[in-house]
Amino acid sequence: MKLYILDFGRIIAPKAWIYTLEGLEKISGAMMGHLIVHPKDGLILYETGIPPNYEDLWPKVVLETFPIGEYKKENRLDVILSKIGYKLSDVSAIILGHAHLDHAGGLEFFRGLDVPIYIHKRELEYAFCSVATKEDFGAYLPHYLDFSFNWKVIDDDEIELFDNVFLYHTPGHTPGLMSMRVELKEKNFLMTSDHASTRDNFEKEVPIGFGMRDFEDWRKSTRKLKYIAKKYKANVIPFQSHLGLI
Ligand SMILES: [Zn+2]
Repeated sequence: MKLYILDFGRIIAPKAWIYTLEGLEKISGAMMGHLIVHPKDGLILYETGIPPNYEDLWPKVVLETFPIGEYKKENRLDVILSKIGYKLSDVSAIILGHAHLDHAGGLEFFRGLDVPIYIHKRELEYAFCSVATKEDFGAYLPHYLDFSFNWKVIDDDEIELFDNVFLYHTPGHTPGLMSMRVELKEKNFLMTSDHASTRDNFEKEVPIGFGMRDFEDWRKSTRKLKYIAKKYKANVIPFQSHLGLI
């Protein structure tokens, strides 16, 4: 089994979205994904980044609040896959850690392919509800919350979805966020999605500012992830930490 870290470009956000007590000064954050090449279950993608035509799909207010700092040809999912010898139709499963626009927007690449999209039940409910009521507007967008996709719902606290690929319900940033642990032969990795953007969010439990939806849930989820990391000696990968940006 192999694990790739995918670089989907940069999104600009106020610092206060990552750290409590910070201001509206802008910070450049990574958009990332992970690709598991699974010996039995094929290509498994954890999160999808954004679509190439995001400027056509995102409302003006979203483009202004969260401008895309960098999205080059080499940040496109199809280009990344071709560089490592695969194409979009080779992807056999997609897991959404959560469904915010910069994590799930890349589902556009998979229109018509009928690939199963695994998401926590609470996340799918919350995302559809946010779009329908226009509450939490902008964090979720209607273009990818589409009934034509092959949605598969997970309603477990934890599950081994594929051999050596574990998902953990870790709410706080969103109600249905799922962190993922991957057991490779010699190493264990624990991906937190936006639960923790930085090492300080995780290790020092510095709250995630405006990115927080439920502080009590977030604190419990952080303790749960710490327990899992210790038990399995996992390398924890906060969302922004891959590229050494923060
Ligand atoms: Zn998010």
